[in-house]
Order: sequence, then C-alpha cells, then structure tokens
Amino acid sequence: MSVPGTPERPLCVAVVGSGPSGLYAADALMKTAGLAVRIDVFDRLPTPYGLVRGGVAPDHQNIKAVVAVYEKLLMDPRVRFFGNVKLGRDLAVDDLRARYDQIVYAVGCESDRKMGIPGEHLAGSFSATEFVGWYNGHPDHRDHTFDLSCEAAAIVGVGNVAIDVARILAQDPEILAKTDIASHAFEALRRSNVKRVYLLGRRGPVQAAFSPKEIEELGEVQRADLVVAEDELILDAASKAGLSDAECKKNFDYLTAVAARGAGRKDRKIFARFCVSPVELIGANGKVAALKLERNALEPDGAGRVAAKGTGKFETLEGVGLVFRSVGYRGVPTPGVPFDEKAGRIANDAGRVVAGGGPVAGEYVVGWAKRGPSGRIGTNKADSAATVQGMLADLKDGKLPARAVDAAPESTPKLLASKDVKPVAFAQWKKLDKIELANGALKGKIREKFTRVEEMLSALSAGG
Ligand code: NAP
Repeated sequence: MSVPGTPERPLCVAVVGSGPSGLYAADALMKTAGLAVRIDVFDRLPTPYGLVRGGVAPDHQNIKAVVAVYEKLLMDPRVRFFGNVKLGRDLAVDDLRARYDQIVYAVGCESDRKMGIPGEHLAGSFSATEFVGWYNGHPDHRDHTFDLSCEAAAIVGVGNVAIDVARILAQDPEILAKTDIASHAFEALRRSNVKRVYLLGRRGPVQAAFSPKEIEELGEVQRADLVVAEDELILDAASKAGLSDAECKKNFDYLTAVAARGAGRKDRKIFARFCVSPVELIGANGKVAALKLERNALEPDGAGRVAAKGTGKFETLEGVGLVFRSVGYRGVPTPGVPFDEKAGRIANDAGRVVAGGGPVAGEYVVGWAKRGPSGRIGTNKADSAATVQGMLADLKDGKLPARAVDAAPESTPKLLASKDVKPVAFAQWKKLDKIELANGALKGKIREKFTRVEEMLSALSAGG
C-alpha cells in the first residue's frame, strides 16, 4: 500500500468546522509542498465560515471580507464541503476514524461561561452569545426575544464581544439597515427603548480586554455618548506598571480623554465602568429589574496578575431590564472526543488531542477548541499552521493511527446516504449565497440571511 500523502494515495483529512481555524488548517495543508492531500470539511450548518458569518458584527463588513479567501479555498478541487452534517448527530467520530488518516477538530466554543450569582436565571438575563447569534441570524439563536422596552441594559465583561453588544444596542439602527443584520433584530432594535448601556469591568481600565480600535469606535457612536468617570481611572501601582503594554496604554489614554470631555449632550449614554462586579440580578415579576454591583479594589494575585476583590461597598443600577454576560465562551464536548472540563476545550497538547496522558494518533484541534476563546480571526492563521506542522511531523514519523482507512472519495458520501443524511455541498451553499444577496438587494441591504436551516433546505430543493 502507498504511503498517505502521495499522488497515488493522498493524505485524507477531515476538518470538522468551517470557521477560520478549520479553513486555515486546510489552507496550510494545501500549501505544503510535495504533499498530496484530500480534505473534507464538515459543518453542522448548511452555511460555511463559522463566526465570520455568525459572530462578526454586521457593521464590521470589512472584517467579513476575509470570506473571499475562504471561498477560494473551498473551491479548490482537493476540498469538499459537507454542510448540514453534525459530528455526534449525523456522523460518529468512529465513522471519521474509519475514513480519514487525520482529523482536525475546529469546533470552536459554542457555549458560554456563567457568572454564578443570584438572579442569573431571571427573564432578561442572557449570554452575549445569544444576542450576537440573534442579530447575526444564527439558526440556534434566531428565536430569542429580547425585551428592549427597558430603559437600561448592562453588559458584564469588557472584552471585544462586550463592545460589539454595547455598540449594537446603542447604535442608530438605520446605520445597520444596509448591512446583513437579521431583519428580526433590525426591527426589534428600531423599536428599542434602551437609553443607557452599562459596560461593566470587574478590574480596572488597564486590565480591560477590549482593543483600542474597538473602544474608540464605541466612543464615536453617533447617537450615544461614551461616559467614563474620572475616579474610576485612578490607578494603583500594579496597574500603572501595566501601562508599559502599548495597547493598554492606548486604551487608558483614550478613556482618559473621554472622561475629560464629560458626559455629553446626547440622550443615549454608554457608561464604561471599572472595578465593579455584579453580585445580584434583582427581579420584579420574574424579570430583571435592576442590577446590584459591588465596588472592587485591585490587588496583585501573586502570579503576576492583578485581581479584583470586593470592598463591601454596593450600588444598584436601577432600570436595568437586560443583562448580557460577556465573560468568555466555553467549548461543548463532542461525543467521542476527549474534553478538558476544567478548561472548557478539547484536551490537547499544542494541537495534538490527548487522552490518558498521551496523544490520540491522527487527531488534532485548532482555534478556540484548542486554545480557548481568545484571539482575533487572523490569530488562527499561525495557530492552525502550528497544528498542521504537528500533523506533518507525525505523518513523517509514521505516527498515523494503526487502523485501516477507507480512503475512497465516495466512502463518506455513501455512508451519509446510507444514514439518509443529505449534505449541503459548496455549490449548493453558493446557491443560497446568491439568493441571500438577491433578497438583500431587494431590501437595499448587503444580504438578507436565511435564519432557519429548514428554510435553507427548502430553498435548495425548490431551486433544484
Ligand atoms: P475576552 O476578551 O476574554 O473578555 C472577557 C471579559 O470578561 C474580560 O473583561 C474578563 O475580565 C471578563 N470576565 C470574565 N469573568 C468574569 C466575571 N466572572 N465577572 C466579570 N467579568 C468577567 O472575551 P470576549 O470578549 O468574549 O472575546 C473573545 C475573543 O474574541 C477575544 O480574543 C476578542 O478579542 C475576540 N473578538 C474580537 C473582535 C474584534 O476584533 N472586533 C470582536 C469580538 C471578539 P478579566 O480580564 O478580569 O478576566
């Protein structure tokens, strides 16, 4: 039998997940000189591109332009797309193990972390993931209802996701009208009564996780003032030392300038607050009605970080009817794939999946499922390439799984047919893409997304 990776017997790789990390792994494999490779990319949705479609905010179309690169990749003859095929539902990991030399899990972090405070279960308490998925028309989240009739909304956490949520809540919806925002979200935001948006950082401005570009964009939202209190910018010694980081310094300088310009005259406000932790969501009639905060002091934690510690001083934000926790994402276990419960991601050592203290031959992980929910889209390029280096080293060292692999290209389509699973091919996604663009044009928008899988499938069967 020929060695995998040769023209007679290409290396067969399954990539599970068609977001940036999975596609950058495919790209790195295809760019490997002298390697003959055949890659099948699976996605649980009929639509590709993961968070680029379902996570990037609709007013950040420049970021979404990266799709052109991904599209080229998915059109390469060495790659096939199997949309609407979910690992653990339509295929078992063992089905992949029997058909591919190597498997790359690029499944991201689909869930979120909880705050673990009283009242988190109340109506009006959501994860940022739910809100982001909702305005982006993600089928998992399209049926949420956010009661935007309240006066104020609070977002817990000060990362870039929190900034996206704050901006979408405060922005003039007409600015979003021409984007690919889901129509249900646009209509709801148009009727929104939210006048105050609170961004709540448990630590100080120097420890904020947002990037300078994002906070500056928030300060430029047309119809809302960004408000920062000067006394929340007073730094302790450890935070002052943190200003040696260029991004932290940029954030701090910007916040200082915002504090100096005062509260402004716009009737909508975005309050960026620091050194405060929510301790209770206060309910009325089963719904969030206010948010109780405790002020924090910062102290070094002995491990080189600065930690927030409650001071026993409390305040209540009245009129808060919506609370979005934006405190980080968490992976969801895939049946049959080793999962590190504590870290909330696939158990791995530098991208090699591990179980029982050693690597699982032929199984790899990239993206948030590998390193946790950090980094921007571009971070994945080098990170996925690093995992691919490990895959190539294992191939060279003969560390492929010791099992027979049915590498025939028709093997997977046949298996899916036998299970009555109808995958959506890339050409079919392109049909959906065309319909979305055409429907968008009718409404003067970039794109009108399908937001239900059934609607996508019936559009495909109607179109032949
Ligand atoms: P993130 O950057 O990790 O931020 C999480 C925030 O939650 C931090 O401020 C963290 O504060 C806070 N937090 C965690 N636990 C908390 C708790 N129990 N109580 C209060 N606050 C808590 O995560 P993210 O915003 O979800 O973003 C994920 C990744 O996607 C990031 O790498 C981000 O840059 C990227 N992203 C980028 C863009 C963009 O470039 N436009 C847009 C969206 C997302 P501590 O620091 O104190 O832990």
